[in-house]
Amino acid sequence: MPVVLNNPLLEDILTQIRPLIGRGKVADYIPVLAEIPGNKLGIAVCTVEGEVFSAGDATERFSIQSISKVLSLTLAMARYEEHEIWQRVGKEPSGQPFNSLLQLELEQGKPRNPFINAGALVVCDMLQTRLSAPKQRMLEVVRMLAEQPDLGYDARVAKSELEHSARNAAIAWLMKSFGNFDNDVMTVLHNYFHYCALKMSCAELAKTFLFLANQGRALHLDEPIITALQARQINALMVTSGMYDGAGEFAYRVGMPGKSGVGGGIIAVVPQEMSIAVWCPELDSSGNSLAGTAALEILAQRIGRSIF
Ligand code: GLN
Repeated sequence: MPVVLNNPLLEDILTQIRPLIGRGKVADYIPVLAEIPGNKLGIAVCTVEGEVFSAGDATERFSIQSISKVLSLTLAMARYEEHEIWQRVGKEPSGQPFNSLLQLELEQGKPRNPFINAGALVVCDMLQTRLSAPKQRMLEVVRMLAEQPDLGYDARVAKSELEHSARNAAIAWLMKSFGNFDNDVMTVLHNYFHYCALKMSCAELAKTFLFLANQGRALHLDEPIITALQARQINALMVTSGMYDGAGEFAYRVGMPGKSGVGGGIIAVVPQEMSIAVWCPELDSSGNSLAGTAALEILAQRIGRSIF
């Protein structure tokens, strides 16, 4: 029998998964991220009825990393025609690590999907073309969605990524060699790293992403962020590509559209019902939060939710 969603339920789930801490590995290829204690654990849920639930370190901000790829795609979908986006980036799962160069060479510089690094870099390139101040615009959007005017970028994380950017730079340059990158590589990398370095808490993330559960609308805003159809399309892409090479495992265990980041955050969506954010910095071998995935798996079972 499904149980009622409330704060004690979330506390209970965190207690259940805490023993998993120690089994994963905090991302260390971005040195500043390696400093984060591995035992942080938080969860927050926002429902389309306006309820908010949370437990653990739900109000502590962390680096959202690749969760930002959903936001950059959202901004692009609001500014480009559908075909303009999908002629430059695909919609298929990659079955490869998030920062792989392999398929990119084989597929003539067209990334498999917008949620691997190559795809997100193309999307950032498109934003650079259409926005006069892409970094500032992203901040305005997240501050508005989360209703938190003090949200910002973690300059140390962005700098750390820029100093270790060889692989992402290689990806961008390879796409440029195939003619699938219009703007200055360094400028776009700079914006991409800042998007990854957005600092948000589980509570802020759950609120920000409620529009994906609510047909493209935030509860507190009059204008939709994107159309209901676009929200559905983003959710579909999250199911197939949001967890990289772990997308199948995540669909099997959790059964919701999800997007992870190497900071240990995951955002998940139950369409028409709720958005959920979890955070635990230790990652599994696919680069997804190990305990965070387990928390979502238990929550899905306890409240009896799955899109399947
Ligand atoms: N900033 C990271 C990178 O570009 C994002 C990767 C991730 O969160 N999966 O490598």
